[in-house]
Amino acid sequence: MQCGLVGLPNVGKSTLFNALTESALAQAENYPFCTIEPNVASVSVPDWRLGLLASIAQSKRTLPSQIQFVDIAGLVKGASKGDGLGNQFLAHIRQVDVVVQVVRAFSSENVTHVHGKVDPFFDIDVIEMELLLADLQSAERQLSKKQKTVDKKEDVKELLECALSYLQSGVMLQNGSWTLQERSNLSRLGFLTAKPMIYLINISERDLINGNFPYKDSILKRASGKPVVWMSSQVEFEIAQLSQEDRFVFLKDLNIKCSGLENVIQEVYSAMGLISFFTIGPKEARAWTVKKDAKAPEAAGCIHSDFEKGFIRAEVISWKDYIDYKGEAGAKNAGKIATQGKEYVVQDGDVMLFRFNV
Ligand code: GDP
Repeated sequence: MQCGLVGLPNVGKSTLFNALTESALAQAENYPFCTIEPNVASVSVPDWRLGLLASIAQSKRTLPSQIQFVDIAGLVKGASKGDGLGNQFLAHIRQVDVVVQVVRAFSSENVTHVHGKVDPFFDIDVIEMELLLADLQSAERQLSKKQKTVDKKEDVKELLECALSYLQSGVMLQNGSWTLQERSNLSRLGFLTAKPMIYLINISERDLINGNFPYKDSILKRASGKPVVWMSSQVEFEIAQLSQEDRFVFLKDLNIKCSGLENVIQEVYSAMGLISFFTIGPKEARAWTVKKDAKAPEAAGCIHSDFEKGFIRAEVISWKDYIDYKGEAGAKNAGKIATQGKEYVVQDGDVMLFRFNV
């Protein structure tokens, strides 16, 4: 699962990306087989339940869920016409599951703004217009291809026509009215504005310390229900460089409770429609990621494809029961282990044990 950091130049994307890669949440060393490219950071999803479950089971190690952040440089006005890194940039966005739009709300004489002034709404308009124009071209291209295909599928053609009409009236596809199936088809057709989006408002250190959320009401209105997070990339970067003890003192000095990165990661995780289930044992306590509504065999398949193929049943304890009854044995005695079959829909926080044929 990947999310892309998108925004105009000099808004703080790389600073945020570096904060993520240097923070305590970047635990790539626990995942020896995952290749991290220079612009891809694999980051742990903070989940306080995992630590508690691990301490009850006295697990030797703890492995949180991971999501990947991609620093996508190169969006400038005119990208949809090939300006800047143009197509390369758009191709990168096409591959991510969620778009995190980084918006500059900090002023600094030392950091030039590409359009000469700090104006979050103007910046959002530029970014979204480029994404929209790219989708418009894509819809037109796909429709003309479909018209030439002999075995064209009527439902895809209809969907493309509807998408085209939204785009022509300047509506991002995310904001259109669609069935769940149509939404999933749209993302398969590669539309950028159909992806879930989060706004990340990069504020100054002063605003952060004073607890100000600049442009709050108007940004929330503009976001029309999409998640918005206010944070300072610069402060996060500084926090990420510190040792655990220094970090505590620094946060206290700034009078802020915790690093904003955790907030960003959690918002991204939920915008992706993801939940976690756990496998807990003396060797390791691990959080795994599945889509909301995934069934038990799919969850088993996250661990190994053989588990999914040979799935027989799952033994499931809710995370709360696991904690309340102090582990598997206690939960069993209290009758809190449920045996679930292939149709069971995994719930966020389930502790699961799979039975399967090899
Ligand atoms: P990008 O082009 O969007 O990746 O922007 P960068 O992360 O490279 O940031 C551009 C410049 O802005 C750098 O000099 C950063 O140090 C500075 N910068 C980034 N975030 C902040 C911030 O929150 N406050 C201030 N004052 N400067 C920042």
